[in-house]
Amino acid sequence: MKVLVAVKRVVDYNVKVRAKADGSDVDLNNVKMAINPFCEIAVEEAVRLKEAGTATEVIAVSVGDKSCQEQIRTALALGADRGIQVETEGGVEPLVVAKLLKGVVEKEQPQLIILGKQSIDGDNNQTGQMLGALAGMPQGTFASEVVIDGDKVNVTREVDGGLQTVALSLPAVVTTDLRLNEPRYASLPNIMKAKKKPLDVFSPADLGVEVTSHLTQVSVEPPAERQAGIKVEDVDQLLDKLKNEAKVIG
Ligand code: AMP
Repeated sequence: MKVLVAVKRVVDYNVKVRAKADGSDVDLNNVKMAINPFCEIAVEEAVRLKEAGTATEVIAVSVGDKSCQEQIRTALALGADRGIQVETEGGVEPLVVAKLLKGVVEKEQPQLIILGKQSIDGDNNQTGQMLGALAGMPQGTFASEVVIDGDKVNVTREVDGGLQTVALSLPAVVTTDLRLNEPRYASLPNIMKAKKKPLDVFSPADLGVEVTSHLTQVSVEPPAERQAGIKVEDVDQLLDKLKNEAKVIG
């Protein structure tokens, strides 16, 4: 079983993101970039399926400019077998990513496609769902457990207030939630080995996709600074302030 994993290059989650002075975008100058954490979980799940003998090949795909090859190499160091970059200039919106991924799916015919539930930069939570719809495949989103069962995959999903398990016929699209697994660290020998693994580059035209945009980013603003809090003397003062200043109790 071939598994395709989508990995996105994003600002490292430890970095405090800043807006550019003109408010046009996030400032990416000298900022550490990394694999989107949910995509790292997707890679880990695919590699575990390979280690269990269920998957035969794991392919990591990223859509972006040349710099996203860095994240593909990280996925290769974590255990993916080969990489695919779909070359676009800068960021593209989820619908375009989904169309491009569908093009890769048609080329590679994987049985399982694993994406992150969400990218931590755009917080879109759209690409997996759109890919499932465009490719006409069933989808199991927010997965906390993935079990291959013959020609089906059972996906346990984290839904409000509990868990739901769905059985999807393969090929299928799965998106990962935080509790699916704990990704491994890439060892130095594996980082070295990853440099030699194959990485193909396709253009959107190679996949028959025209890159269009329906979205314009109007502005990027940091959240308002939080006001400093105060310490109250006792419970009576707290109640008084909640009642008469904050007016949140009667
Ligand atoms: P989003 O819909 O942007 O929140 O992203 C959800 C998931 O779609 C990510 O975790 C990735 O697995 C995949 N994805 C989104 N954008 C890209 C991209 N440019 N390249 C590869 N995968 C992507």
